[in-house]
Amino acid sequence: MTTASRSTVRLASGVDMPRLGLGTWPMDDEEATRVVADAVTAGYRLVDTAFAYGNETGVGRGLRASGVDRAEVFVTSKFNRASHSIAGVAQAARDSLERLGLDYLDLLLIHWPNPAQDQYVHAWQGLVELRTQGLVRAIGVSNFKATHLDRIIDATGVAPDVNQVELSPYTPRPGIRDYASNHGAANHGIVIQAYSPLGQGNDLLAQPVVAQVAARTGCTPAQAVLAWVLGLPATVVAKSSDPQRLRENLAAADVQLSQADSAALAGLDRGEASAIDSDTTGH
Ligand code: NDP
Repeated sequence: MTTASRSTVRLASGVDMPRLGLGTWPMDDEEATRVVADAVTAGYRLVDTAFAYGNETGVGRGLRASGVDRAEVFVTSKFNRASHSIAGVAQAARDSLERLGLDYLDLLLIHWPNPAQDQYVHAWQGLVELRTQGLVRAIGVSNFKATHLDRIIDATGVAPDVNQVELSPYTPRPGIRDYASNHGAANHGIVIQAYSPLGQGNDLLAQPVVAQVAARTGCTPAQAVLAWVLGLPATVVAKSSDPQRLRENLAAADVQLSQADSAALAGLDRGEASAIDSDTTGH
């Protein structure tokens, strides 16, 4: 384990979040127990789950099975649109904690804005209130566009610690990254956390340019892509259920791409329209 694989970023709320973590969708409880235990033993210090994944119980079991202190692992969960109210958010947090078998979350996210329901401002007010009660150390959002962020910041004066968004060389999300670096408290900005960085099993890792960059850098295609995301800079959650690939992904924190190779991967950009549209998608 290297220092780089344990490196963190300070969130606006003052909490340190690991820059690279483990995603757990679409693992069920049984798979999550095995993979989370293995990942934490291998050195992962951030685990990303959600109510919607249906695996919080397994994630909690995996954390305990690893034998690593609770305080050493950063645990993120998320809630669905049915919880978009002040009371709903508090209940969602308690329910997630009960399934996980924990007494606090490091980060709780509004999973999707669901603008058709138009209750995400209330969800954000609920998160701001929840943070004062100590059940969550940091609060954030996922799949939020600038229009959604403007509304929650205007309503509360509080910017999210984190915006977790789809981000890979195919979908580099320059607009939302630019917004993030210009907002947030104490000059920390809103930290962007990339999801589906490896393309969620699409043809990204098979692109010839990814193989060429990996060969020149002396790393694997997945490591090249993860190093590219980390270098934007952004933080990242990647999923693997395979013991070998888990370790390979964690070691990407040690990989440095040349400027030319970063630019080569940036050339894979398929445009903002190729990212999932959170105005019409969500749960
Ligand atoms: P990823 O981009 O992390 O890709 C995961 C896929 O890549 C799996 O099929 C995995 O297979 C494969 N893979 C992993 N490592 C390697 C490797 N080294 N070489 C080759 N293939 C590899 O996609 P996800 O969508 O899973 O995103 C990561 C996490 O982000 C999720 O698990 C979830 O926690 C979160 N997420 C959040 C969303 C949100 O709305 N907030 C939406 C989607 C995801 P295998 O397991 O067999 O290795």
